[in-house]
Amino acid sequence: MGKQMKKSLEAQLTQYIEAGFPILYINTSEEEKADAAIRQTAAKIRWSHLTEWNGSRMVNFNTKAPMGASDDTLQGVLALFLEETAKGRLLILKEPQAQWENPECVALLRDVALRITTERLKDCAVIIVSSSYELPQEIEHYVTVLENEALTYEQIANVIQAAAEEWEAKLEQDALDEMVTALKGLTESEIQNILRLAYHQYSGVLDRKAMTMILEQKRQTIKKSGILEMVEVNAGMNDVGGLANLKKWLERKASIFKNLQAAQAFGVDMPKGVLIAGVPGCGKSLSAKATAALLNVPLLRLDMGRLLGKYVGESEANMRKAISLAEAISPCVLWIDEMEKAFAGVGGEGGGAEVTTRLLGSFLTWLQEKEAPVFVVATANDILKLPSELLRKGRFDEIFYVKLPNRQERAAILEIHVRKRRKQDLPQINVPALAAETEGYSGADLEGVVKDSIEAAFAAGKDHVGTEDIKRAIRETQPLSEIMKESLDKMQGEYEKRKYKSAS
Ligand code: ATP
Repeated sequence: MGKQMKKSLEAQLTQYIEAGFPILYINTSEEEKADAAIRQTAAKIRWSHLTEWNGSRMVNFNTKAPMGASDDTLQGVLALFLEETAKGRLLILKEPQAQWENPECVALLRDVALRITTERLKDCAVIIVSSSYELPQEIEHYVTVLENEALTYEQIANVIQAAAEEWEAKLEQDALDEMVTALKGLTESEIQNILRLAYHQYSGVLDRKAMTMILEQKRQTIKKSGILEMVEVNAGMNDVGGLANLKKWLERKASIFKNLQAAQAFGVDMPKGVLIAGVPGCGKSLSAKATAALLNVPLLRLDMGRLLGKYVGESEANMRKAISLAEAISPCVLWIDEMEKAFAGVGGEGGGAEVTTRLLGSFLTWLQEKEAPVFVVATANDILKLPSELLRKGRFDEIFYVKLPNRQERAAILEIHVRKRRKQDLPQINVPALAAETEGYSGADLEGVVKDSIEAAFAAGKDHVGTEDIKRAIRETQPLSEIMKESLDKMQGEYEKRKYKSAS
């Protein structure tokens, strides 16, 4: 998956067209770049009949002049394409997805694909250019998806320098490096848009001050892409109470990740990532954030629910997009939240299961072969719902399970949350006594207890929070273990049976 991405769009087009692939799908919002790549490809393979359907009519691809066709619908254009016999023809379809509602259109396109594949239409190909990925099932089989390759460090630096020159903006050299790093993973036009905004906001100077804004804009741009979210990292390892084994393990991986070149030269494998499973509210998400802080890299959250699209192949295209974006932004942490949501049901029957099985396959291949410094932190509440392929040795570097915190851990968690809000009260609070009274409480429960007691003390007009205030809040909180005792016991039994490592 990753390797295909590194070739230029033009090289990919040439390769697939020459190999007789009938339909190529360029998934991009940069139409001009796609056009340029198509133009170069056509010149290289010497195909000269280039027709475009631009969403409403048929035009000459090179001049964009209407071709005066009697039937300008996609259906008419496809019918014409089937009739003609000239060789060296490319049909370029722009944003055609609205037409998939029309079964005749779909049938005609399928016919075109079939005839190209069986060489009844010689030296022909269809290229779809679209900013989204939607395909009817009948056609999916004939389609190869291409993606615009990510910009390199030098290319991003060039875009920034060119923009600064054009606007006669002052560009501070020492800010350039930081900007390039911050803008990794975005397309040329996205970078230009963000720079333009920064330039106007900071009255013509592009310097370090613009960084906060650039990062915020990048966060929004990534969010718009739909599947990945750049999460603000507001917690470090010191904010995680307990989980000593997990922390120690992560620290060792961090020392490798931060000195990757030296480590690899020494023979150390590229760190893949970790799967953290177990009880809700006990610090799995928190650990993902703290890992990014530890590695000092951005944290990207993959939303499994949104990954699963309604069209066939859409989910895989989304996965590919998310992965190539993460690779482009790397070094980074890729956090796969609630993994069981997407991968439950793998191996089962029916169309949905088939999609998730393929999705899992492509994810595993990537995980196995990945060369980019993307550290995966996958979290799951119920590991028993995950397919066994994911849990096999060698997939993740390690699998940890998180259980309810023990007494010592509860003390650490309570202390963290009191310190965060009422540091001055901490010396007077009997934390060990509170820890002893909170057996069965999750980390989130304990945080809730601290928050409630502070709120209650304030509402009662007190000037501090004491042990008794917190004890009261404890009595008023129903712990997680009471709510879901049975399933917790069962899960823990399973984890122990399978000999996963305990995070504590
Ligand atoms: P879920 O599966 O429900 O997402 P989770 O295990 O990911 O649960 P978190 O989101 O990490 O749980 O925990 C919720 C909140 O509870 C955290 O933001 C944190 O404030 C608190 N918390 C949980 N565990 C710990 C812990 N070990 N140390 C400190 N705080 C904790």
